[in-house]
Amino acid sequence: MSSAQHAVTVIGLGPMGRAMAAVLLDRGYAVTVWNRTASRADDLVARGAVLAPSPADAVAANEAVVISLTDYAAFHAVLEPAAQALDGRVLLNLTSATPEEARAGARWAAGRGAELLTGGVSASPTGIGQPESYAFYSGPREAFDRHRPVLEALTGRVEHQGEDPGLAALHYQIGMVMFWTSMLGCWQAVALARANGLTAADILPSAAETADSLAETFAFYAERIDAGVHLGDVDRLAMGLASAEHVLEANADAGVDTALPAAVVDLFRRGVEAGHGTDSFSALVELMAKPGSS
Ligand code: NDP
Repeated sequence: MSSAQHAVTVIGLGPMGRAMAAVLLDRGYAVTVWNRTASRADDLVARGAVLAPSPADAVAANEAVVISLTDYAAFHAVLEPAAQALDGRVLLNLTSATPEEARAGARWAAGRGAELLTGGVSASPTGIGQPESYAFYSGPREAFDRHRPVLEALTGRVEHQGEDPGLAALHYQIGMVMFWTSMLGCWQAVALARANGLTAADILPSAAETADSLAETFAFYAERIDAGVHLGDVDRLAMGLASAEHVLEANADAGVDTALPAAVVDLFRRGVEAGHGTDSFSALVELMAKPGSS
């Protein structure tokens, strides 16, 4: 094993792992890599990375092991055969997971003498290594502090959220539920626009304006939601249902997929049926937090 602080292993060379390994090479780290499809390492090897012949060899090479795999099924598929090499290693695991998977993964690693830090990256592969990019971690604080330079090479800003390895996974999934549903809203808008002869570029200015307004809207409602207040003084759920139905009908009329707008109408309708028609649409939070209880 290399004991140098300037040596790192990267396991998983999808777009994210490749970007991370490349940035670590840029910063002068000695980088050992492993990937199921070995050819994805070609560019990195040409730049000086060492391709390990097996996950066990990759883990054995360095104390710090950055892991960037699709999911925890892949994590176990790759690392279980390497279990005997894990003793004394710090797994910097940037693989998407549920909080429970992250906690179970940390316990599994601890049983083999390794520490596991769970990470959530709020950046695309092109943002890796950029000063404004951000990632958050949870798990052993000492391991976070010790490997902070590696983490700061990956993203300009890093934060330790707590000792619970599930915490970073929780925050990551909170971010992702917003990201995926927001972006699907964008794709729905593009589909509707396209069915009406408009391009994504045509609707970009108004789409950007809508997206920009969401932070302020969320800030307005967040305070009320935490206070349990869903006053219908600014908006009423019954109005929201009518609006959501217009969205659904416009999409249906255009002949585009209606799964997403139909799901939105369903939520609004359930809110009205639960007696929240004169409340704000923020009352849907209560319905979503405890389905069937309103
Ligand atoms: P990919 O799913 O494209 O690739 C991840 C890696 O997982 C690949 O190296 C792939 O190997 C490997 N893999 C998948 N299944 C197995 C398996 N059963 N056994 C061995 N290896 C396996 O993911 P990304 O690189 O895009 O992302 C990596 C992680 O980062 C994910 O958890 C993702 O959620 C997260 N993330 C990604 C972002 C993005 O924009 N891409 C943004 C923020 C976070 P192979 O090359 O052989 O297929």
